[in-house]
Amino acid sequence: MNAASLPAEETGAWFDRADPVTGALASRTPAMGVADAQAAADAAAAALPAWAALGPNARRALLAKAADALEARADDFVAAMQAEIGATMGWARFNLALAGGMVREAAAMTTQIGGEVIPSDKPGCIAMAIREPAGVCLGIAPWNAPIILGVRAIAMPLACGNTVILKASELCPRTHGLIIEAFAEAGLGGGIVNLVTNAPADAGAIVGALIDHPAVRRINFTGSTAVGRIIAVRAAQNLKPVLLELGGKAPLLVLADADLDEAVKAAAFGAFMNQGQICMSTERIIVVDAVADAFVERFAAKVATLAAGDPRAGNTPLGAVVDHKTVVHVAELVGAAVADGAVLRGGGAADGVIMPAHVVDHVTPAMRLFREESFGPVVAIVRARDEAHAVELANDSDYGLSAAIFTRDTARGLRVARQIKSGICHINGPTVHDEAQMPFGGTGASGYGRFGGKAGIDAFTELRWITIETQPGHYPI
Ligand code: NAD
Repeated sequence: MNAASLPAEETGAWFDRADPVTGALASRTPAMGVADAQAAADAAAAALPAWAALGPNARRALLAKAADALEARADDFVAAMQAEIGATMGWARFNLALAGGMVREAAAMTTQIGGEVIPSDKPGCIAMAIREPAGVCLGIAPWNAPIILGVRAIAMPLACGNTVILKASELCPRTHGLIIEAFAEAGLGGGIVNLVTNAPADAGAIVGALIDHPAVRRINFTGSTAVGRIIAVRAAQNLKPVLLELGGKAPLLVLADADLDEAVKAAAFGAFMNQGQICMSTERIIVVDAVADAFVERFAAKVATLAAGDPRAGNTPLGAVVDHKTVVHVAELVGAAVADGAVLRGGGAADGVIMPAHVVDHVTPAMRLFREESFGPVVAIVRARDEAHAVELANDSDYGLSAAIFTRDTARGLRVARQIKSGICHINGPTVHDEAQMPFGGTGASGYGRFGGKAGIDAFTELRWITIETQPGHYPI
């Protein structure tokens, strides 16, 4: 189904997404109603038996085709991401490369969905643990890394023999629609892969109806912590497992023995890639006093080279932020911190949604900028007395997605990493790092459950205990 070709059957309505830079129409998409969403779930349920019964190599072949079909749409993806979310070409192409890898990784996993034979105490009993498809999987994806996160929501569920529904983001429905077109072209149409698009005001009703639909057996959600809570409650009411990938406030620790040049490069990339709009973005740089001044000098100099501009011009490392709300939110966080004594070491006024990279030094735990996810081009620098204080500051957060530590002593790095409350931690690397085969996910307000590799199999299959008796039974009654 071409997402952009037909109005929603139930409502006959459309909704528009405006280009955040120019204000021009970026995409016009069917605004589905609850009945349309339920019909998508019905279609997924109808397609489930045949897809679940298909052999692993047949599923693998179709997924491999889908990866090719995605990559064949590179120019369309770049244009859609520039128009809908103000992304740079580099971010769009990186999204496509990782998303293609995720589909191929999922394809490779189709023969790895193994079970086990478990020793039974009962004479003659053969006991097995078998993984079976869970059923229809609902994936809900955000706009910020739209190809990666849209693909992540459906690739492993499909590999595990489930049919899927992708609930697109209202901010990038064309980009998410292109994913579904590619899968359909590869032969994964006909109810195996389904797209639901809705006007922003209808998100709650549509998502609620999909979670309630009896055929939907697993939900995965990537997005804000606030919406994640709503989804977790609805899933709990239905007793359905949900995987939540939510917000973050990633700390990057710079210890006294760090290679400062390496730390500066990783911190600048982690804080400002995609204008800081990544769940793993470095939001807090926690640097020990011994090297703080030296680090801040070099870091501010590096950030001064990171200009922001119109993503279509293609000559700046930073593009646009997704909307004016982000500009206002970042400006508020920065303004409040500076009013309370923090020091601005880079930044300035935004030109529409083109917002320069902001560096705010001397941020303390009392400031909103220390705690609230900015999801924009700003990083807080927090000064710590020593390693123990740096760990304490890093853990002083409700979030726990990604973290990083810079030290030349890798044993020390590992010791510190084990003390950080986060799902992911990198020693001498940036907080922003994702690979298809890695267990990806967070703790606390960053959610629970893991995408990626073998952890993904666990999330999207039902583990069943099946026995065969090979001797006559003996019963006490
Ligand atoms: P969002 O939570 O606003 O929207 C995500 C999805 O939720 C959309 O599809 C939207 O339609 C839906 N939604 C909105 N209101 C709803 C409601 N009341 N009920 C049900 N569904 C509803 O998030 P966003 O702004 O699109 O994305 C940014 C957030 O996502 C940030 O917090 C970021 O950290 C997080 N994120 C997390 C990861 C991760 O892997 N942990 C990755 C990327 C982004």
